[in-house]
Amino acid sequence: MSEKHPNIPATAKVLLNSEALIQNWDMLNRLSGSANAGAAVKADAYGLGVRPVVEHLQKSGCKDFFVANWQEVSEIEDIVADGTNVSVLNGIRDTDMEYALNSRAKPVLNSLKQAQLWRSTSKPCDVMIETGMNRLGIEIRDLDQLPSDDLNVDIVMSHLASADEDCPQNQQQLEAFLDSAPIINGNRRSLANSAGITLGNAYHFDSTRPGLALYGGIQRDELVGKIMQVAKPLAEIIQTRSLKPGDRVGYNAQYIAEKGHDIAILAMGYADGYLRGFSNTGCFTHEEKRLAVLGRVSMDLIAIDISEAPNLKSGDWVECEYDLPTASEQSGLSQYELITGLGQRLERIWT
Ligand SMILES: *Cc1c(COP(=O)(O)O)cnc(C)c1O
Repeated sequence: MSEKHPNIPATAKVLLNSEALIQNWDMLNRLSGSANAGAAVKADAYGLGVRPVVEHLQKSGCKDFFVANWQEVSEIEDIVADGTNVSVLNGIRDTDMEYALNSRAKPVLNSLKQAQLWRSTSKPCDVMIETGMNRLGIEIRDLDQLPSDDLNVDIVMSHLASADEDCPQNQQQLEAFLDSAPIINGNRRSLANSAGITLGNAYHFDSTRPGLALYGGIQRDELVGKIMQVAKPLAEIIQTRSLKPGDRVGYNAQYIAEKGHDIAILAMGYADGYLRGFSNTGCFTHEEKRLAVLGRVSMDLIAIDISEAPNLKSGDWVECEYDLPTASEQSGLSQYELITGLGQRLERIWT
């Protein structure tokens, strides 16, 4: 994305609440019991902006950050404090080695092949154990082939596939992870993501890896009332109009007015990550008044009902109802997709 011109104000923004981010991390750290909470900041900190997120969380005491790849390391390398760890979840490729050798980050070794690549470096690494998700990780039966004497292993980890549900898979993965303990040694062990933290002490080990809940995601009842909304989109009204009964709104006339009322057109759309799943189901607010999305969301525009706030006019701003559980219900999108999908066109304003 090219630099934005400073003298042209954005027509849609997202307010990012640093206090809420910090409180969410503190809460997850406390819920992690004797383990220390790290932070998953992959995908630009789930779309919010990795540099401000790392800076805020570092000040709060977070010492382990998890990114997806080495490009993401390079975005934060200069702000990571001494004694703070950065783990690269996708591991290491030949083509990453040149950068990785001079980096303070460590790869999460996901395969014997990655372990072979890393063994000569004598630099720290983490190891991912496959315990039932069949995504990344070394099979427990292959662990004896790991060149353990040549590896300087910090975190031995695995990842829960279904921690947001109560199902036998959680316990099965926990048991498999425990089975691997005698075969591989590291400084620390880690299993739980955000939802996994709520599964109890047995899942905490030494370090937890929350992501979604830091940014306001609530996937389990245990977190209701404990996790605060971090990201709140705002959009500017660029036109208002009065509908007559029978008037149609937007592409394919997916809203038809039954009675006459006023609407406002917002300068935000699916190009900003407010996807078409919100058509006729999303909601904006203004001074406690709820303003329903009418018809299809367009690329750059959204129509809302302003019957409840008839004084709204072009140039006014309205808030998007975007607390993640509610917005997920409205749109059918996952909380992860909603937060990571916030578009680059939205001006990000940390408060
Ligand atoms: C993304 C990720 C996390 C964080 O998961 P959330 O569900 O967002 O808390 C933790 N560990 C690994 C390996 C991940 O890929």
